[in-house]
Amino acid sequence: MLIERRDFLSTLTLAGAATLFSGNPLLASTAPKKEKLGIALVGLGYYSTDLLAPALQMTEKCYLAGIVTGTPAKAETWKAKYNIPDKNIYNYKNFDQIANNPDIDVVYVVLPPSMHREFVVRAAKAGKHVFCEKPMAPSVADCEAMIQACKSNKVKLAIGYRCQHDPNIQAIMKLAKEPKFGKAKMITSAAGYFDARTDHWKQNKALGGGVMGDMGVYALQGARLATGEEPVSVFAQASTTRPDIYKEVEETMMFMLDFPSGAKASCQTSFGINMNHLQVNYEKGWAKLEPQSGYIGNKGSMSDGTIINFPIKNQQAKQLDEDCTALMANTELIAPGEEGLRDIRVVEAIYKSATSGKIVKIG
Ligand code: NAD
Repeated sequence: MLIERRDFLSTLTLAGAATLFSGNPLLASTAPKKEKLGIALVGLGYYSTDLLAPALQMTEKCYLAGIVTGTPAKAETWKAKYNIPDKNIYNYKNFDQIANNPDIDVVYVVLPPSMHREFVVRAAKAGKHVFCEKPMAPSVADCEAMIQACKSNKVKLAIGYRCQHDPNIQAIMKLAKEPKFGKAKMITSAAGYFDARTDHWKQNKALGGGVMGDMGVYALQGARLATGEEPVSVFAQASTTRPDIYKEVEETMMFMLDFPSGAKASCQTSFGINMNHLQVNYEKGWAKLEPQSGYIGNKGSMSDGTIINFPIKNQQAKQLDEDCTALMANTELIAPGEEGLRDIRVVEAIYKSATSGKIVKIG
């Protein structure tokens, strides 16, 4: 970090550095260390309202400092409910002025996926660290641009993969690193729910809808995390039982993954079926979770009788605190932008396979 900061400073004029650092006190070596980082949520829909804002009332390393919304009425409600000062409330147009707000250390992008790239890049240019919800973006090119923008502006990018902060999923991840039952051979991984909505961005292609990015990344993560490997090829099939609603995007995706070790995964995701499980068969045993990607209550067992059932107070609060601790200590994030990109590489191949009806290699 010291080297990075020195190189960075040498490329800036003093005035330029002052402007940039005024936005993010974490980057200014002279600024007093903050005990809690200020987070601004961008997009005040379901996930921000029901999960992230309540979690930010429990966090120890960060707090809800600001909001960015396109709806003035929401700004009023949030301002009153969470005691947010006017100077920390932005809309999509004046958002870039956040660069001059030292209260905000991190911008958390919680918008439809097609908007992630624009707001991650703008946040990075404003000198703010960025958290971005999954799926990272609709394309590999978008993800690469987001990673590059954060690198160029010397800020960090974390993807909101809350499950990777959950000790129950971590128990499965550990079996890939410390193989108690030998290598993973066959994985079954599913994530889906019945979505009764008929007119939402999740059904809109231009906004980044489709079940694959939304719930499919959980099914995919189950397989990737259980093997600790990146898939080399995929065969996928998309379908819908409600063509009147799922006109532009798939309601259900089934995909089979091949891993370099020879491990295979059969994965399912759907907006029409409630399902959430992960089963990993190893050379000499098995481990399973059901649910595997819930907000609470992920639990399971292993073939040797081990019970997986670590209670956690609040998954999102744990994610936010762990990511902010990493920012403050300048240590590695659990799920940086590169992890989001790894999934989108596979997601792109899944769509190619579903369209062509052929096995697609993942480069
Ligand atoms: P939502 O539809 O409830 O909210 C979306 C927000 O974006 C709203 O505030 C809406 O006003 C705003 N918006 C701005 N421009 C818009 C446009 N053109 N069309 C639609 N909305 C627009 O969605 P959500 O469920 O809160 O999802 C937001 C993000 O959070 C997505 O990336 C989603 O995948 C992610 N998410 C993650 C989890 C998780 O467990 N990590 C759970 C739910 C959602």
